[in-house]
Amino acid sequence: MLLKIDKSFGVSAVKNRHEENMPKNQGELFMSTTLADKEKTLLQVNEFVNEPFTDFSQPANKKAMEEAIKTVRLSLGKEYPLVIGGKDVKVGGDNWIISTNPSKPDEVIAKFAKADQKLAEEAINEASIAFESWKKVPYTERVQYLFKAAEIMRKRKHELSAWLILEIGKSWAEADGDVAEAIDFCEFYGREMLRLGQAQPLTPYANEKNKLHYIPLGVGVVIPPWNFPLAILVGMTTASIVAGNTIVLKPSSDTPAIAYQFVKIMQEIGLPKGVINFLPGPGASVGDYLVSHPKTRYIAFTGSKEVGLRINEMAAKTQPKQIWIKRLIAEMGGKDGIIVDNDADLDSAAEGIVAAAFGFQGQKCSACSRAIIHQDVYDKTVEKIVEKAKKLVVGDPQDNNNFMGPVASKSAYESILKYIETGKKEGHLLLGGNAIKTNANGYFIEPTIIADVDPKAKISLEEIFGPVLSIIKAKDWQHALEIANNTEFGLTGAVYTKNRSHLDQASNDFHVGNLYLNRKCTGALVGVHPFGGFNMSGTDSKAGGKDYLLLFTQAKTVSEKV
Ligand code: NAD
Repeated sequence: MLLKIDKSFGVSAVKNRHEENMPKNQGELFMSTTLADKEKTLLQVNEFVNEPFTDFSQPANKKAMEEAIKTVRLSLGKEYPLVIGGKDVKVGGDNWIISTNPSKPDEVIAKFAKADQKLAEEAINEASIAFESWKKVPYTERVQYLFKAAEIMRKRKHELSAWLILEIGKSWAEADGDVAEAIDFCEFYGREMLRLGQAQPLTPYANEKNKLHYIPLGVGVVIPPWNFPLAILVGMTTASIVAGNTIVLKPSSDTPAIAYQFVKIMQEIGLPKGVINFLPGPGASVGDYLVSHPKTRYIAFTGSKEVGLRINEMAAKTQPKQIWIKRLIAEMGGKDGIIVDNDADLDSAAEGIVAAAFGFQGQKCSACSRAIIHQDVYDKTVEKIVEKAKKLVVGDPQDNNNFMGPVASKSAYESILKYIETGKKEGHLLLGGNAIKTNANGYFIEPTIIADVDPKAKISLEEIFGPVLSIIKAKDWQHALEIANNTEFGLTGAVYTKNRSHLDQASNDFHVGNLYLNRKCTGALVGVHPFGGFNMSGTDSKAGGKDYLLLFTQAKTVSEKV
């Protein structure tokens, strides 16, 4: 369907895209509406559909990806600036963040100027100045930057994936998924702004003209993690700016290069200076400074529970001259479980558990890190899980035959190996349990499965964020559900059962933000599975959902006597 969006007449579904013979590619439509057409009030946009994943079994796609990796390899090792108020800022001396390839830590991906508090101050000031004009840019124009960014990312998909493969060790498929999600966020939030930018329905009242509209908040600090360093960064950034806010973007120090690729795209499409200020820097000093700054109006954070809680505390403290309560959008960790009931399709359950536990080396907030299995089918299911996991191939993800790459960094590597040692004492090691030595000293760890884990064991309750699966035996269905809910987190979960009443009970009682029934607990799609967790997993912002943009706005009601 084609959505016709008119500022004065509202959104209405008009004609089928194919009847209209409109282009199938969503972005194409917008290329005809250039920024020079900014006064146009009538915009047309196709209904949102998810960006398709690339089929790398097709020789042309495989070749294109290989070429992209070669091209990006030619750019490795360069020095990059900060971007503040539209200007490249270079920092001298030893003030560099060095991003390296986790498959070969001696290989430098890029060197980034490292911000300090003085530059953080400048960045906040530039964002504040830019806010005064950006907030007045009509939303119909702001959305076009998102559609144009999507269009460019679509064209450079493999190149962006190559950065993800080299900088953070994603497999081809995982990198492709990350880029597709970034494109989806641009397309989805663009459409959402077209919906929210219009006059909102109110109850009519005699002799008054009432209006409610959504205005931006102000200067935001956007802090993404390294594990979806393009998708999550793009999601929080585009939601911010399309709503009319300006931001300071502090990327993860493990993934500044992919972050910079996006910033460059936004510069290329002519986003006004100061709307996005790019500020790589240490979380502890620069992050704290940005979060506690009195001009910071909100913080959009995705990362660990520990850092999220620290930001929450710092943001809550009112600073001298601060005239608002800061808003915090915080999406944090998970300890996600999959329940296998005694009547489940065990092959399908084992397949879902292995994919969710070991995809991207278990470094997804939604990864299955605990399989909770009914005692009647415990042995059979465990056997199937181990058989499947044994077949996973680990190695440098530049080679598409490798399903699992390295873990993200030296600190992640050491922390995961420590958890594995604890796990060996807390359960029975069935598979893996070791680092994999390579000539280039990459951070590779075997897919690791530890069975017969007590529900209250450390490896059952704490987020490990690596390729480590704990298996827990449940006495019965109720016990399984009880175990599934026994952590402080509440992000994703899944249940495999044929029992309708168990599915219904899980829908009500399995306390997670994203619950999946008879499918794996990873792979949320924008628009399809709005994403966010309960309890210590965060503020349940539901990224990629229709409630998300509201978090970046404030509603204003204007009532006029007539
Ligand atoms: P992290 O908390 O270590 O870092 C996240 C970001 O915070 C980074 O950019 C980091 O530089 C910054 N930071 C660190 N200290 C800071 C401070 N004092 N002030 C401000 N910023 C600071 O997390 P990570 O290791 O990058 O990412 C992994 C974590 O993210 C896992 O816990 C994972 O579950 C979580 N995650 C959650 C979701 C979700 O949607 N719930 C999605 C992806 C990742």
